Amino acid sequence: MTVILDGKLLAEKITAKIRAEILKNSLKPKLAVIKVGDNPASLIYVRNKQKKALELGIESVVIELPSNVSEENLLEQIYILNEDTEINAILVQLPLPEHINKQRVIEAIEPIKDVDGFTSYNFGRLALGYQPYSFPCTPKGIIRLLDEYNISLEGKKAVVIGRSNIVGKPLSILMQRRNATVIMAHSKTVNLKEHTLSADIVVSAAGHPYLITEDMINKGCIIVDVGINRIDNKLIGDIDFNTVKEKASYITPVPGGIGPMTIAMLMENTLELYKLQKSFEL
Ligand code: NDP
Repeated sequence: MTVILDGKLLAEKITAKIRAEILKNSLKPKLAVIKVGDNPASLIYVRNKQKKALELGIESVVIELPSNVSEENLLEQIYILNEDTEINAILVQLPLPEHINKQRVIEAIEPIKDVDGFTSYNFGRLALGYQPYSFPCTPKGIIRLLDEYNISLEGKKAVVIGRSNIVGKPLSILMQRRNATVIMAHSKTVNLKEHTLSADIVVSAAGHPYLITEDMINKGCIIVDVGINRIDNKLIGDIDFNTVKEKASYITPVPGGIGPMTIAMLMENTLELYKLQKSFEL
C-alpha cells in the first residue's frame, strides 16, 4: 500500500513545538524578509511566511522595495539589517529583478543571519560536511520528512531532478551525507527515464508539470515532489500524482508535502539563529 508522506502534519507538529518553546521561555526571535517588486507568487509566499511567524510568536518585518530599486539600495537595506541587533534572520525573497545580481545580494547577508543557508559561507560548510549556521529550508525539510517515516537513505540510489542552488544541489549533498548514491539530473540530461527507472528514490525539483509519469518509475520507488506549478488556478507538482501513486511505496502530495515543511524549517532556522546569537552575547 502506498504511504502518503504528510508534510502538512509533520510541519504542524514541528511548529507547535517551536511555538511552545518560544512561549515557555519568552523568546524574541525576529525575522526580516526583503521583497522586491510584486511578483504574484512571491506575494503569496511572503504572506504565508509572515502568517506562520505570527502564529508562532516570531516577530517578522517585511521590507518592500519597488521592482526598479537599485542594487546599491537593496544592498544598503541588507547592511542595515545586518547591523540591527534585534534582527536574527534575514531572507531575501527570490526571484529578484533581472538588473540585480542575485549572488551579490545573497553574499551581503551576514552568515549568522542567513536563514536560508544560501551564502557561500554556509553553503561551503554544508558542502564540506561541516555545520553551517543554517541548512537550506527545502532540502532540510525533505530529509526531516523522510526521517519521520524512518526512510533510510543508506545505499539507496537517488535521482534528484534539478540542480539549483536552493533545492537540487544542497539536497544532493545532504543525501550523500546520508550515504545515498545520488544522480543529479537537469534539463540537459539525456534519457531521464533510464535513470529514474533504476532509482530507489526520485526527487523532482524542476518546476515542470507531469515530468514524471508512471512508466518512468519502478514499483516501490519513493517519490518526493518539490515542484510547484500553477495550472488553471490549481497547484500541482512535477509528478503525475494519480498514476505514480499506484506504483510508489511513499509519495509526497502537492500541496501538503514539501511546501509546509519548507516554511516549518524557515521558522526552525529563525529560532536556531536567535538562540545562537543569544549564546554569543553571554
Ligand atoms: P530552478 O528553475 O532554479 O531550477 C530548476 C531545475 O530543474 C534546473 O536545474 C533545470 O535544469 C531543471 N529542469 C527544468 N526542466 C527540466 C526538465 N524538463 N528535465 C530535467 N530537469 C529540468 O528552480 P528551483 O530549484 O528554484 O525550483 C524548482 C521547483 O521547485 C519550482 O517548481 C519551484 O516552484 C519549486 N520549489 C518548491 C519549494 C517548496 O517549498 N515546495 C521551494 C523551492 C522551490 P538546468 O539547470 O539545466 O536549467
